[in-house]
Amino acid sequence: MKHKLILKKTQKIALLCLLPFAAAGLLLLLKQAYAAWVMPWMPPCLIRTATGLRCPSCGMTHSVFALCRLDLAGSLRANALILFGVLLLVLLYAECWTRVLGRPKKLIPRKKGFWIGVLIAALAYAAARNLPAFAGII
Ligand SMILES: [Zn+2]
Repeated sequence: MKHKLILKKTQKIALLCLLPFAAAGLLLLLKQAYAAWVMPWMPPCLIRTATGLRCPSCGMTHSVFALCRLDLAGSLRANALILFGVLLLVLLYAECWTRVLGRPKKLIPRKKGFWIGVLIAALAYAAARNLPAFAGII
């Protein structure tokens, strides 16, 4: 026999209110575990090692770690693409709220063209951050 978990609207609202705190706690735990057990074994970025150039994701670990310390400027300096990731999480959270409140709305674009644009923007960011004019800025 299969049991289906059915929550009342108030229970869903309570869970959604707790979600950011649970997610923040989990992120801090994962950060500690990653720093202690995974980071020592991670190879350096292959693109940076081979070319000396920073790829779109270079600095993302430092960016997330800085965000965990609430060092927003340091987080953006390490990799400004974190801003897009945080924006996506906020929109996803807002989508959950629209669903729980009975008016489901998709706030994150699902069209392929949007994501191709995101990829192009990330590559443009990677190109720009390797230009001498932007060294140390982005
Ligand atoms: Zn890289």
